[in-house]
Amino acid sequence: MVGDLLVGVRTSRGATLGLGLLVCITAQTASAADCPGHPDALGTSRTLVVDPKEHPRIGTMQYAETLPLRDREVVLTFDDGPLPRNSNQVLDILAAQCVKATFFIIGRMAQAFPEGVRKLHDAGHSIGAHSQNHPLNMNRMSIERAKQEIDEGIASVKTALGNDAALAPFFRIPGLSRAETVEDYLASQGIQTWSADFLADDWRHISSSRVYDIAMKRLEAKGKGILLLHDIQARTVAALPRILRELKARGYRIVHVVPATPEQPATPSEPQQWQLHPPSENVAISHWPKIPNFVFANADMLPGPALSDLDWRDGRSMTLAEASDHARRPARGVPLPREAPWPRQSPLAPDSAAIALPIPAQSIFEIQEKPPAATQGLAPSSHRAEQTVPAGPQTDGLAELISVDAGDSQSPVPVPIGTR
Ligand SMILES: [Zn+2]
Repeated sequence: MVGDLLVGVRTSRGATLGLGLLVCITAQTASAADCPGHPDALGTSRTLVVDPKEHPRIGTMQYAETLPLRDREVVLTFDDGPLPRNSNQVLDILAAQCVKATFFIIGRMAQAFPEGVRKLHDAGHSIGAHSQNHPLNMNRMSIERAKQEIDEGIASVKTALGNDAALAPFFRIPGLSRAETVEDYLASQGIQTWSADFLADDWRHISSSRVYDIAMKRLEAKGKGILLLHDIQARTVAALPRILRELKARGYRIVHVVPATPEQPATPSEPQQWQLHPPSENVAISHWPKIPNFVFANADMLPGPALSDLDWRDGRSMTLAEASDHARRPARGVPLPREAPWPRQSPLAPDSAAIALPIPAQSIFEIQEKPPAATQGLAPSSHRAEQTVPAGPQTDGLAELISVDAGDSQSPVPVPIGTR
């Protein structure tokens, strides 16, 4: 498809414009068709099916791999819910844009608001787990305790959903406090550990416009990736519509991620696609031949050229006359051009005539010992001045600054009571 587009570019500019328009219309039509009643919706451009067993840890904030996204593709994730007041608004905002996301649910929240978890799932979003109690020290707790947090969290979400298969084998460690033992346990259970590619700091006490700014700035920096947000935060609810509008305006596309099942195998991908910025086909380094292993590489010393290798006569240097004659010889029968009309150089004096260069007179290096008139007045007045500030016209500005500073110190300043 990309190849076809490139061919179009080469063959005809008019045809390319037409094709571009067609692609544009097709994209818009798809978006509108996917989102009845919302013709300007951002939409969900595609569904990515992943196999957690093949790629157990994702998110470049902490891991080598991330989702195999194309440029300007974004995966939205929301943590810590559901909290009906805010999560329901997030649901409405996403629905108005026909955007599908992934929600990482806290077990205790699922126990408190099971219908909220079901609403998220029924709206077509992916549901992952986020521990039972959201401890921020899973990187330091015993693995038994960590397992308990994971297992209980998963059980709580499954119970809320009422269908074990409705929970995706996706897990996000609270506070991203990763530990290898925790990740290994999750992987052993066939669960994918999700970090993120960028945050929007929406759990901090910042304004919703700041959340928007951070989200867009970090996304622009990476060009694609997994965005971590919190559906329980009011500032996120406030920032989300603008974020989605801007994603659309800047040409970003939303990708919905679902786990592979026997009925729905993983989307085919190459290993390098799981890196955020794999080496491009256009980067020369991936195609340059290996540097050959020269025979000299192991030698302690490189062989120096012998005089006979050079165009010297019998190893002795040519005289100036010989060199001149050598240069005038036609190479392989090709006649040399006529001598260029360079200006004649004056004949050099014989070496013997320049035994010694004239020595500069001693007076050239004499330093005037008499101080300049401007500094004469300062010299006898203050011994301290000589030590601290070099006298001279260039120090006038510094002296002025010191003077101003000293003057300022005379303005009223708090003085300790005892010293008044
Ligand atoms: Zn969290």
